[in-house]
Amino acid sequence: MQKKYDFLIVGAGLYGAVFAHEAKKAGKTCFILDKRNHIGGNVHTEKVADIQVHRYGAHIFHTSSKEIWQYVHQFAEFNRFTNSPLANFKGELYNLPFNMNTFHQMWGVTTPEEAKQKIEQQRRDSFVDNPRTLEEQAINLVGRDIYEKLIRGYTEKQWGRSCHELPAFIIRRLPVRFTYDNNYFNDSYQGIPIGGYTAMVEKMIEGIDVQLETDYLADKAYWDSLAERIVYTGPIDAYFDYKFGVLAYRSLIFENEWLDTDNYQGNAVVNYTDRETPYTRIIEHKHFEFGRQKQTIITREYSVEWKPGDEPYYPINDEQNNMLYAKYKQLADAEQHVIFGGRLGEYRYYDMDKVIAAALKRVREVLGKE
Ligand code: FAD
Ligand code: UDP
Repeated sequence: MQKKYDFLIVGAGLYGAVFAHEAKKAGKTCFILDKRNHIGGNVHTEKVADIQVHRYGAHIFHTSSKEIWQYVHQFAEFNRFTNSPLANFKGELYNLPFNMNTFHQMWGVTTPEEAKQKIEQQRRDSFVDNPRTLEEQAINLVGRDIYEKLIRGYTEKQWGRSCHELPAFIIRRLPVRFTYDNNYFNDSYQGIPIGGYTAMVEKMIEGIDVQLETDYLADKAYWDSLAERIVYTGPIDAYFDYKFGVLAYRSLIFENEWLDTDNYQGNAVVNYTDRETPYTRIIEHKHFEFGRQKQTIITREYSVEWKPGDEPYYPINDEQNNMLYAKYKQLADAEQHVIFGGRLGEYRYYDMDKVIAAALKRVREVLGKE
């Protein structure tokens, strides 16, 4: 019997929205479900007191792909926001990522040559050929002072593990520069959609039916009966009822505060890099869009151990969890009518541009075969 829809899309985040947009454009019928009460997944923004609030933490769009940059411009205009977070270590302020401003603030050096000498001096005692732990990697990269003040506390709070146990790759994401450049990213393009991410996602899925506050897994057989194919962007282990065990995540708690001042911290993002401050960072939303409102909204972000029932935010891609994921992936590959995608469906840390690129690639493959 002909089913009602070509695709049932589980999850109204970026992966689901891009997939749905492209499928609809190709003449396919889609229906989107999300268990939350809004679209956009983790990029969701909500206007409060005329300020776009990033409900699930700071989201800055950045990419080196011209194709993806042009793609998102179909749905939104972007402002000129450049992420340049500050680090606050017990009241001392440093620029991030690690660059000449940071080195000057840390050691008083003014030239790249002096900064390189200082780092060289600091790592001489502890240099390791093939750094395996995050601590070894960090000291190799920027020396012990920066590791102690700007990396150790923040990282241990963020991951809930000691820097001796964490893999080196986590820190390789961060640029180290010998220029006075506080841009957190190396990408060619960067900005925030004017009007917020949710408006952008709304445009992506224009004309497609969406049902919110509905858990696909709670009534899977019914939903499956409606569509030829399923695009599933929820947690892969949940789809298989955790039959091999539970994949681990870090979770986050966001504590929002509305303040009767026009400018609380003078910057969109301030990281608290000491071990004692319980939160990892404070974001002040209005600065993402150069807001001039009389009031402000800030969010303190706490990183916590995930347990079943909590929101999964960061996959823990260590060896043990990657092995467990590989077992689920084998089952997923055998579910021929289901496409597993996105951050939770593929259990990997995806930036927004990468998740859009992955959805585009997949939808083109799927449509190309039909
Ligand atoms: P999601 O956005 O998680 O969407 C999945 C959706 O599926 C969710 O809405 C969920 O409710 C729904 N769902 C799950 N299970 C079910 C079910 N059973 N039934 C119905 N619905 C279900 N990227 C950047 O490029 N720049 C940044 O600055 C940046 N900052 C970030 C900061 C934080 C704190 C976090 C956590 C991530 C950040 N990211 C950033 C990454 C970005 O959030 C992701 O790339 C993107 O949101 C992934 O989209 P997705 O569609 O894969 O997943
Ligand atoms: N990091 C740090 N100090 C900072 C910011 C980042 O030590 O002030 C480290 C930390 O280990 C973090 C990693 O760099 O997990 C990657 O940082 P990024 O800002 O990319 O983290 P995310 O965007 O995943 O929150």
